[in-house]
Amino acid sequence: MSNDFPSIPEQARNLSKTALDIAKSFAKTRRLLVSDDLIDLRNSICESCDRYEFESSRCKECGCFMVNKVRFNGATCPLNHW
Ligand code: SF4
Repeated sequence: MSNDFPSIPEQARNLSKTALDIAKSFAKTRRLLVSDDLIDLRNSICESCDRYEFESSRCKECGCFMVNKVRFNGATCPLNHW
């Protein structure tokens, strides 16, 4: 696995997919954000993952800023860790 972030076009596609997933989830559940406990759990999983970059709080797999992504219902880990 590469230590680099995805290309900019790939990051854009990943961001679009995440936004769509969040919108679909909201349409179904009417819930935008997850609980603080689930945010903490997701953060702890990311912080123990070799695809996490602490300096920027970004996932090297999708390129997303995890400080934001972990908060949204419907967002998912690209490697299915959460
Ligand atoms: S979102 Fe998944 S792949 Fe990315 S840092 Fe978190 S656990 Fe790792």
